[in-house]
Amino acid sequence: MKTIRGESKKYLEIDLGKRSWSVFSPTEADLRDYIGGKGLGLKMIHDRLGNRLGALDPLDPDNILAFMMGTFLATGAPCSARFAGVTKSPLTGIMVAASCGGPFGMACKTAGWDGVLVSGQAAEPTVVHIDEAGVRFEAAGELWSMETGPAQSRLVDNPRQGALLIGPAGENGVLYSVIRSGHRYLGRGGMGTVMGAKNLKAIVATGLSCRIEPADPVAFARLNKKARTMINRNAFVRSYRAYGTNFGVNPGVDAGYAPVRNFRDRTDERCRNLSGEAMAERYHTTHAVCAPCTVLCGHKGTYPDGVKRHIPEYETIGLWGGNLMNFDPDIIGSWNDRMNELGIDTISCGATVGWAMEAAEKGLRPSQLAFGRTDNIAGILDDIAWRRGEGADLALGSRRLALKYGGLDFAAQVKGLEMAAYDPRAGWGQGLNYAVANRGGCHLNAYPIALEALFKFIPQYSTLSKASWVAFMEDLFSATNSTQTCQFTIFGYLLEPPIARFTPKPLLKLAMTLLPEVAQLVLDWSALSGLVSAITGRPIGMRAFLKSGRRTHVLERCMNLACGITAADDTLPRRFLEEAITKHPVKSVVPIESLVKAYYRKKGYDADGVPTPRLLRRLGLPSLVLPSVVGAAR
Ligand code: SF4
Repeated sequence: MKTIRGESKKYLEIDLGKRSWSVFSPTEADLRDYIGGKGLGLKMIHDRLGNRLGALDPLDPDNILAFMMGTFLATGAPCSARFAGVTKSPLTGIMVAASCGGPFGMACKTAGWDGVLVSGQAAEPTVVHIDEAGVRFEAAGELWSMETGPAQSRLVDNPRQGALLIGPAGENGVLYSVIRSGHRYLGRGGMGTVMGAKNLKAIVATGLSCRIEPADPVAFARLNKKARTMINRNAFVRSYRAYGTNFGVNPGVDAGYAPVRNFRDRTDERCRNLSGEAMAERYHTTHAVCAPCTVLCGHKGTYPDGVKRHIPEYETIGLWGGNLMNFDPDIIGSWNDRMNELGIDTISCGATVGWAMEAAEKGLRPSQLAFGRTDNIAGILDDIAWRRGEGADLALGSRRLALKYGGLDFAAQVKGLEMAAYDPRAGWGQGLNYAVANRGGCHLNAYPIALEALFKFIPQYSTLSKASWVAFMEDLFSATNSTQTCQFTIFGYLLEPPIARFTPKPLLKLAMTLLPEVAQLVLDWSALSGLVSAITGRPIGMRAFLKSGRRTHVLERCMNLACGITAADDTLPRRFLEEAITKHPVKSVVPIESLVKAYYRKKGYDADGVPTPRLLRRLGLPSLVLPSVVGAAR
């Protein structure tokens, strides 16, 4: 078996229209500057599309779908199953990157490929097969129209294989359709829709023909052990391990970030029926995770109907639970299964259905949907995937519907991407995060609600330190998402080194609130950056790691500016800016203007939200294309 030291540096470039493929390698400078995963994927798309990016219809054959294997993938580092998908989103019209821990990543990387770039449109529905020798095209035949579960069973018949595939939603142009791999998903922004527009049903990788060894095995072994120790003892990780992401339900009821009745109220005691603790007891849950994983957040359990199901994630539970005034976890489990089979993003769909329920209540749009009514949801999901009846409309997502019927003020989306299940009035940093996140209403951009409402390191209802933490965390997450280790490990790396662990919590809280830049200077993520060095053989210190994350984030911002984003898009729906009274005892609206202004300053953007030439120079961003891109956006 061939041994690869860290990374093969070989990428497949597939043109579906020409049924051709080639191999290319990124420059050493790009590997150093962008690490891999999300960052390198954005850079490759940027270089290939250049000034065509802005006007490009995301469903045009020329759009590029990049699948980027993580630096950590297949090395044995913590949570190292993950890979990225990057493209221009049909839902938002701007860039989208997502992360997935399904088996495609392991198969692709151990076939010797660090990534796959797909462009063009196949003349007929197609399945692409890749292995160590290269690429083979095959007609999808009867797989087209098939739901993801049966299609995947047909495509993958041995443990060396992993597939990426779409369901009917992606084939039929639902703007928020997903790509499935195993029981994991590239979930946001309609990546499955791009794949469907390319007539691409699936990519099947056959791997395990190469062994991935770190470039420096001794340093890797030492850092891997250290990282695992830190991750294992982190309280956040232990909660995930015990109850999955739904450990966040009860704190959401208390802290007031639970989405209730299309984000009108931000708490409801009945949401506790949907908590991780309640579901662990009800379904006798066991782990079902990305492989390999150190955190173990995923769970499955046996439902009262006897079916063994994957427990829906917190976002799905939030948006299909209290958000729709439904407090029955059993029925959300069955809807979650249905959406996974059809290939639908549970977050965008849940928020769109919530909007439709409120729009119907307000008489803006007739609908069979109503808060608390659950009997017609399963049928609606099929109608969305097949674009029938009301489903054809709902397949467009909440922003397009609100522009068509009115009701933009209560469409829980930013830049067209539906918000995740955290009401931003419960954490003003979370509000800022949604407003400025590159891909739109994304909770994972910086995830400040964890600092505000879960760890309670910084106050929920204050602007103090928020711009600084959002700017810092999004750089750190951008870099982390270029290694493609799981973001859920990050608090283990940050909070378990001695400097954070042995500082008394009140002192840590004070420093994080009043002197955030000082706190960021003393935090230590050297184990994470050290693992990157040990795997790739390219030394990268923790400051350079952070700078790489900022470079990726700013590059993505520039690409979005080229796609037409302006400072006016860096805001929240009016509900979160004006409606202070909810069921939660604390009245709160997000003071978004001052937060965004402070954030622009921290980030090195000008008052229009455009990265300054000084920042671009400091990050060494490409000088040929970007100035014209940024100039065109102003
Ligand atoms: S923590 Fe959860 S999402 Fe992250 S790699 Fe493990 S199972 Fe996957």
